[in-house]
Amino acid sequence: MKILVASSEVLPYSKTGGLADMVGALAKFLARAGHQVGVVTPLYGGLREKLPGLRPLDWNLDLPFGSARVAGNIWTLEPSPGLTFYFIEQKAFFERGDLYQERGFDYPDNAERFVFFSKCVVHLARYLPWQPELVHLHDWQTALAALLVLDQKLREGWTAAPLVCLTIHNLAYQGQFPAAKYALTNLPDSYFRPEGVEFYGLLNCLKAGISYADQITTVSPRYAREITTEPLGCGLDGVLRRRQHVLLGILNGVDYDEWKTEGNPHLPFSYTIKDLSGKQTDKSALQRECGLPEAPDIPLFGTVTRLAEQKGVDLQLAALQEMLAGDMQFVLLGSGQREYERGYRRLAERYPSKCAVQIGFDTGFSHRLEAGCDFYLMPSRFEPCGLNQMYSLRYGTTPIVRLTGGLDDSVIDISEDADKADGIKFIECSVRALSKAIRKALVLYPDKPLLRHYQRNGMARDFSWETAAAAYASLYQRIRAGQ
Ligand code: ADP
Repeated sequence: MKILVASSEVLPYSKTGGLADMVGALAKFLARAGHQVGVVTPLYGGLREKLPGLRPLDWNLDLPFGSARVAGNIWTLEPSPGLTFYFIEQKAFFERGDLYQERGFDYPDNAERFVFFSKCVVHLARYLPWQPELVHLHDWQTALAALLVLDQKLREGWTAAPLVCLTIHNLAYQGQFPAAKYALTNLPDSYFRPEGVEFYGLLNCLKAGISYADQITTVSPRYAREITTEPLGCGLDGVLRRRQHVLLGILNGVDYDEWKTEGNPHLPFSYTIKDLSGKQTDKSALQRECGLPEAPDIPLFGTVTRLAEQKGVDLQLAALQEMLAGDMQFVLLGSGQREYERGYRRLAERYPSKCAVQIGFDTGFSHRLEAGCDFYLMPSRFEPCGLNQMYSLRYGTTPIVRLTGGLDDSVIDISEDADKADGIKFIECSVRALSKAIRKALVLYPDKPLLRHYQRNGMARDFSWETAAAAYASLYQRIRAGQ
């Protein structure tokens, strides 16, 4: 099929979170399976210099934008056969230090930036010579494009308009803006109502996608069910229940070209499911790198995360204050809310020989942490899919996760099925429940044969993107067939 994927971030060119991993891998694996794939994404600052292969398209964008017009350029890159990236250059909007925020605050013109970007997506969908049959939108930054396609189909007679699929990566981020920003869309007022894009007097970009896309997906089956309920529906559960007949959960895959324990340039030592000795040396190397005592027999726990309430990092901080008094070590890599950054720094000061904290974003270190730890902590309040628990499984690092969303779909608890078990799950969202799960890990740790059994079960799991991309491809075919 001919598919245009639209996302505000995509690996290997930009990333703040799992969205970039997912879109980069989905596009790559769809193209590998023989589909024609275009990816439209902003040209952020620094990319021009980093990508000498970029070519300008002879195509100047000049789009209506409220009462004004905004211009832009398109640059392309073809990293592999069947896969073309279209980078939207709009210096005032996209050449910034970061993607969405500055010093913890959203850019004040995010509505302008992503309404414009959504318009570019639709413009490409309409005028690209290869005529995409389906546009796959991701998250609120592109969701408005679903309505723009529909409107152009109805008002301008766009006869070969593509089908639209929207994937929700995190319902908590909806792109809500004051009603006055709706004028930027140049859409008729009739869509600005509760059944359309209005949410209690605000413009809600994600709601536009949910209301008007032909198909909605989210990144795990359990999260697809959870978001239709009030506790995890973020105010949109009613709208999602109305559209439940077109809502499907597909678990994200893992890009094993990147996340591998053999021949991985980020890891000092390789290891395999048959020979885990390299994991032990990766552990020593990590302890050394973090300035912790090189102690092979002390269980080492780790986390790589955005420091946000969603991730349960506050519960984890409270649990570790107490648990680190015992015989264990902990390493954190993360960045985000200042209060949590401060809290974890203080934890490391309190336990200098047991706890190391690195604030920042560092892909290489995230691999070394995943490989060097014995246990991986992920106590999320909610988790649409979560990737690190799946990376942990492949790296033989037993995940300890809260039973929610994709964490529940991807980890098998040691009490569920001993032959297949690969992690520790806990249910209650509390410090007590997390501490209890950590204690379970501490009890398990000295039983090396049993721990190895769980590690090997995890390493044998297959979350490859071939499977996930095939699930999307067959969904696209079903939408096309109108089923
Ligand atoms: P989310 O998208 O909600 O942040 P996911 O688990 O879906 O969570 O994806 C997070 C991705 O970002 C993973 O690939 C993870 O390794 C990566 N990541 C998060 N924080 C950091 C960091 N500080 N340094 C490097 N990688 C990080």
